[in-house]
Amino acid sequence: MLDFARTGAAVGGTSATLEKTRVLAAYFRSLDNDDDLRRAAVFMAGRPFGQSKRRTLGLGWAALSKVVGAISGRDDTELQSLFRKHSDFGDWAGEALEGRTENGDVPLEEVEKTLEGIRTARGAAKAAPLEKLLRRLHPEAARFVVKVIAGEMRIGLSEGLVEAAIAEAFGQPVTQVRRVHLITGDIGETAVRVKRGLIETSKLTLFQPIRFMLASPVETAAEAFERMGAEKVWTEEKYDGVRCQLHHADGRVELFSRDLKETTRAFPELAENAPKLEHAVLFDGEVLAHRDGKVLRFFELQHRLGRKQVTADLRREVPVVLVIFDLLYLDGRSLLDEPLAERRRLLEGLGVEHPFLLARLEEATSPADLDRIFADTRERGHEGLMAKDPASPYTPGRRGLAWLKLKRPLATLDVVVTAVEWGHGKRKGVLSDYTFAVKDTATGRLVNVGKAYTGLTDAEIAEMTKRFMSLTVDDRGWARVVKPEVVLEVAFDSIQHSGRHASGYALRFPRIVLIRDDKPVEEIDTLERVAELYERYFGTKTEASLTEVAEVSLPTRPRPQSGRGRPPHGVGRGR
Ligand code: AMP
Repeated sequence: MLDFARTGAAVGGTSATLEKTRVLAAYFRSLDNDDDLRRAAVFMAGRPFGQSKRRTLGLGWAALSKVVGAISGRDDTELQSLFRKHSDFGDWAGEALEGRTENGDVPLEEVEKTLEGIRTARGAAKAAPLEKLLRRLHPEAARFVVKVIAGEMRIGLSEGLVEAAIAEAFGQPVTQVRRVHLITGDIGETAVRVKRGLIETSKLTLFQPIRFMLASPVETAAEAFERMGAEKVWTEEKYDGVRCQLHHADGRVELFSRDLKETTRAFPELAENAPKLEHAVLFDGEVLAHRDGKVLRFFELQHRLGRKQVTADLRREVPVVLVIFDLLYLDGRSLLDEPLAERRRLLEGLGVEHPFLLARLEEATSPADLDRIFADTRERGHEGLMAKDPASPYTPGRRGLAWLKLKRPLATLDVVVTAVEWGHGKRKGVLSDYTFAVKDTATGRLVNVGKAYTGLTDAEIAEMTKRFMSLTVDDRGWARVVKPEVVLEVAFDSIQHSGRHASGYALRFPRIVLIRDDKPVEEIDTLERVAELYERYFGTKTEASLTEVAEVSLPTRPRPQSGRGRPPHGVGRGR
């Protein structure tokens, strides 16, 4: 541990990145067994345990400082003044323990065992293993043990620099190290694989979560084609649930969330049914809530996610399905480098059954095609569309151009401004925040549905400020109620139920598209229209929309023009 600590101190002692990397690389190279290399890389990254172990120490700051305080024999005032000097637990402990310990050294393995002892002990018993270790150590080593426990080294060493040092230590390009790290999701495991030269063969291992592939946003269908540079693109609906990775082999099942936390217990119906697949697999997909054949709103899934325990009642009320859109591993074979088309072919060959469904797939060969699919997707109640290059490999952790997400404003509404507020920051001194309303035809009143801050130029805002000053009917200081005369066209992404506005709805992310001076207030949009849009896009989705999710369409088959699977009129859409 003392070597580790001295290396850490040397890294912290220079601000030159190259020097930090060199020092650390030399240390990594000096370690002659793989387990020590694994421990050293993990500790240097400021972690008590490798990420793949998914363990937490559960030792609070209070317990930590009590142990250090007790060993040091110093009084509180002295300890506090030392802490103020360092503002870092490790550095503080290092100085507080000077001359108060046995000045010894222990192998990294022993530090790891102690950390494991702390993790498994309960409550007050957690302090004992730590105290025993710190008493034996040289204060410099103790300083670094405390840094590892505190979860940060504060020696100017990012995880990226640890990757660079691993690359330098074992003569590999840092890009390769990064790739292995993305796949393993664990810096210790990465160091060992790189040392052993397992770069090309660095394939994923089941039950070690791998980072998710991400999508880049695009605004238009033409941009999607242009950026992807492909002749044809595959499309999938953009499902509004939670991302999920499912690992299964021989009856063992583990699920991971977008931040690679294990979530197996949150979705027992998936864990129970995965063994029926009779294949070792790693799926990437989206968990959706659904009941009685209907996809439920995200809100209901959230309700379930918020619970510690998934009771039988909750399972009945909000059951879940996994919509699978990728297969990364099959029966001992890593598929990361296979093209999406091949991964999908293998996935379709598995014949998955409820609660597993396959993402609905279509193919677009032109921007016009993609636009049409996008419009149909919207109609089915999905917020957007994913466009994927069928020839692309799965690149963990990357937000590249092989996956694009196409989102567009849901609609625009013509509204009238009813109140305005003074802006902040660079908008200080101008009226820049506009509350707006639609007409409730039942009562003839105006009802607010949102507030817009963006979309106008500085010149337009200045002009608007003058106008609203003269339209003010009630000056409340920070806000002014204005005569409803200014008509705006606003775009927005979605609608929510809301108690904040009299309308009962709130538009999300509204922005001003146009000032509609050509439009009289009598002709603005109505509350009925807002309710209609809400029902159409955010009301409970219909049975038909789930059947479509479940449908497996062959990628090469042209899509029928009949509007296949559209919900019959009047079913759950309010139209
Ligand atoms: P965003 O959260 O807007 O960055 O969109 C990316 C997210 O969309 C992903 O992390 C997934 O959780 C989700 N998603 C929904 N449907 C798909 C799909 N068919 N393919 C990939 N990601 C999807």
